[in-house]
Amino acid sequence: MNKTNILDYTKSELSELIKPAFRAKQIYEWIYKKYVNSFEEMQNIPKSLRADLAEAYDFHPLQIAAIEESADGSKKYLFSLKDGKTVEAVLLPMKKEQHHEDGTLAQHTRYTICISSQVGCKIGCAFCLTGKSGFLRNLTPGEITSQVLMIKKDNNIAENRRVNIVFMGMGEPLDNLTNVKKAVTIFADPDGLSISPRRQTISTSGLSSQIKKLGEMDLGILLAISLHAVDDVLREQLMPINKAYNIESIINAVKNFPIDARKRVMFEYLVIKDLNDDIQSAKKLVKLLNGIKSKVNLIFFNPHEGSEFQRPEPQKVKRFQEYLLAHNLLCTIRESKGLDISAACGQLKDRKEKNEHC
Ligand code: SAH
Ligand code: SF4
Repeated sequence: MNKTNILDYTKSELSELIKPAFRAKQIYEWIYKKYVNSFEEMQNIPKSLRADLAEAYDFHPLQIAAIEESADGSKKYLFSLKDGKTVEAVLLPMKKEQHHEDGTLAQHTRYTICISSQVGCKIGCAFCLTGKSGFLRNLTPGEITSQVLMIKKDNNIAENRRVNIVFMGMGEPLDNLTNVKKAVTIFADPDGLSISPRRQTISTSGLSSQIKKLGEMDLGILLAISLHAVDDVLREQLMPINKAYNIESIINAVKNFPIDARKRVMFEYLVIKDLNDDIQSAKKLVKLLNGIKSKVNLIFFNPHEGSEFQRPEPQKVKRFQEYLLAHNLLCTIRESKGLDISAACGQLKDRKEKNEHC
């Protein structure tokens, strides 16, 4: 029998499939809170039902194919899927553990987990290794959520420890909106991973019509826009999708997007040497984001083999940031987390595949 993956279902779907309905809550707790690896371990489920479940459902959509650890503590995972295809996810410790003077714990390490939504990507951005390798398929909801579950398990992160999720790995989440929406719901379930939508960020290359759809779903998630350029000519060159959805359409979609009053839309700006790192661009960016509750995240372009672009000079990025800050635009520079472990997504996969072919 062709088994379906139990992780693909929301709790309400499971309660339709498995009777009595309260079993869904129990199964969720076993999977997402107690981290079991089989139906057999679900002690409060009757033995006969456990056997039926094992007949009907699969449990492990992912296997760890490789891990690379960086000096700054970030850890990149390459997962292989049931059909042998691979995707990446990264565990990023954002704030270190802190102690009071008497040695007791003041604050746990804060983690962000960066996950993939597709194998490859259709959007084909010129600077992105994932985009260059083309599109293979969408991830299922369970393949998306399992990245977080596996990383929590592998790092002994207790079930009740908060993590943040960013859909910034491989793929365009809004090109797989149905499954991403389901993943957001599964993540948020209080009987499961219990990750509030306010701690989940969807990053998009700017599919304006999908941003509108996502807004109408009113999931309460955070939005990040990969802007990278302030004029359509350059943006088209970097991101061919700009021909279909230009900057103006993206800005309009963002203006209509429901945002939590305490939150901001993040605009990601990949800084590329001599292309978009000048003050003129910073000036245009300030104008463009006028009236939007936003923050800008400057990202150093991370070169990869065969890439036609170059890493910007740190002083220029700093100057760019200072201009934005001076004009009342919140702006951070993304730390080069995991640079020594092939930082931008797609690079571990690329290296691993090349090594395997050697
Ligand atoms: N498809 C979505 C989410 C995944 S890409 C999007 O584009 O927003 C996540 C981020 O990685 C994007 O902001 C993208 O611009 C960035 N990225 C891709 N290639 C990169 C590279 N070589 N160096 C630095 N960042 C890169
Ligand atoms: Fe796809 Fe995002 Fe890479 Fe562009 S940057 S090719 S949208 S994954």
